[in-house]
Amino acid sequence: MSAKKIAVVGVGAMGSMALWQLARRGHDVTGFDRMGVPHDTSAHGAESRIFRLAYREGAEYIPLLKRSLALWTELQAGSDRKFHYPIGCLYIGERGADWLLGTIDGAREHDVRHEVLDEQALRNRFPQHRLSGGEFALLDLDGALLRPELGVRAAVQAAIAAGATLYQGCGVERVRPGSRGVEITSNGQTQLFDTAVVTCGAWGARMIEGPSPHFTARRLVGTWFGVDDTAAYLPSRFPVCIRRTSEIDYSGFPCLDGWTVKIMPPVNYLSDVDPSAVDRTVSYADTAIMRQVAQTLLDGVDAEPVRSGVYLDGFTADNHPVIDFHPESNRVILAAGFSGHGYKMAPAVGVAIADLVDTGGDNYIRHHFSVHRPALKAA
Ligand SMILES: Cc1cc2nc3c(=O)[nH]c(=O)nc-3n(C[C@H](O)[C@H](O)[C@H](O)COP(=O)(O)OP(=O)(O)OC[C@H]3O[C@@H](n4cnc5c(N)ncnc54)[C@H](O)[C@@H]3O)c2cc1C
Repeated sequence: MSAKKIAVVGVGAMGSMALWQLARRGHDVTGFDRMGVPHDTSAHGAESRIFRLAYREGAEYIPLLKRSLALWTELQAGSDRKFHYPIGCLYIGERGADWLLGTIDGAREHDVRHEVLDEQALRNRFPQHRLSGGEFALLDLDGALLRPELGVRAAVQAAIAAGATLYQGCGVERVRPGSRGVEITSNGQTQLFDTAVVTCGAWGARMIEGPSPHFTARRLVGTWFGVDDTAAYLPSRFPVCIRRTSEIDYSGFPCLDGWTVKIMPPVNYLSDVDPSAVDRTVSYADTAIMRQVAQTLLDGVDAEPVRSGVYLDGFTADNHPVIDFHPESNRVILAAGFSGHGYKMAPAVGVAIADLVDTGGDNYIRHHFSVHRPALKAA
């Protein structure tokens, strides 16, 4: 395989992993990010992420997730800072909840290591969760907490050690494919590359010249609440969790800073925004669901958040990402639209991008995450 000169535009969750995989395969790869790497203002901020294998969003993700688990483990082994906490992921539902029964069926079908807990077992093992009666749970044993900023940092460090170059504070204004290569314009300077990988998260494909698929940016608010008994909420005792009641859908994260837990709302209720002009003020109304969770579903958690932040992610119309060549040019690869659930699979996306560069891509990936699927329309 001959080495190519490749630009990775956007060095966040996906771009950092692409940089790592392309550099380790011997390509001459350069990353550009509009911010420093990592940073806290796009989709890889907010301290913590859930990794899970029991994936009700679609069986097509399972191979990506299994590959990612191996790569997270490998990346962690070579890193000086801890970002992968294999503590399990707990899913809690009400009596007979179809979504949870379906997730359990999926776990069985795909050989996901798991336990099913009845209400009593749930009360005994995880008393931090306030139950109203009849709940049951799935414990995904390969579920984990990931620290997104540190994962990005580790991938970039591995990429640089393998020969990659990184430009920070270099927003790319234009990606222009042509017959000789792809022109990348940043800070008024234009460079020519064989291939460009565009991994710009909420910024989607707007810097690519010509018609591109439509990605929408969404604003997501994270909140942290103080806890009475921090020991009860340490990663060793409080797995990451996903819980649905008839009123609320949220995800919860253990205490990493010595005094708070993180509570996240579902991702789908927030509106579309301009990622470069998003309102970063967190209003009282923004935190309503999280306050309700703190006050009703968790034990010994303060009623009001003590920390909050605004983050962004890029979404598609069907909430599945694109991992494919750009529809107008095979010199441009798009990996975008991870729709609020991409972090866990980022390492395998890096491999999929490198495969697109080297061999034209894996048919499985191109089929499931195609840019040509009907749900995506050109903008
Ligand atoms: C608050 C929150 C919680 C989440 N929780 C989970 C979870 O628990 N589990 C999970 O799996 N997923 C979760 N997700 C989703 C996941 O984090 C994202 O899907 C994933 O990080 C998307 O990665 P990305 O590389 O597309 O975007 P990013 O990580 O945002 O990377 C895009 C990068 O592109 C850069 N960029 C943009 N435009 C340009 C330009 N013109 N030139 C140069 N650089 C540019 C940006 O600065 C940024 O660094 C969550 C997302 C959010 C926001």
